[in-house]
Amino acid sequence: MNIFEKIVAGKAQCNKVLENDDYLAFYDIAPKARVHILAIPKVCVKDLQSASPDVLKGLCEFTKEVAQTVGLDKTGYRVLTNIGEDANQEVPYLHFHILGGENLKALGF
Ligand code: AMP
Repeated sequence: MNIFEKIVAGKAQCNKVLENDDYLAFYDIAPKARVHILAIPKVCVKDLQSASPDVLKGLCEFTKEVAQTVGLDKTGYRVLTNIGEDANQEVPYLHFHILGGENLKALGF
């Protein structure tokens, strides 16, 4: 079980931002921006490449709700997802990084 599977199963803690039946958002443990949230489906999918259109559509809609919840929809934000080895994906569980809360120009992404 990877760390995000444990979080979904309630076996590891997270700092939750928003949740519904199918998706969960929580703050990244090592934030790369003033606001850094991860949004995941509750069903484990390895990455965007192997995700179904339905899961991706739902995750996009959920990401917009997360942004509204924390006010990033007003100031702007970036959505990023790593896929596989060359992207240095650490956790093999589809997640969108939602980054904002400051101007992102200086960040090394
Ligand atoms: P990636 O390289 O795209 O797989 O990113 C994985 C992200 O998960 C990193 O930004 C980590 O800081 C974050 N992360 C790892 N473990 C946890 C955790 N227990 N709670 C919140 N974020 C985590």
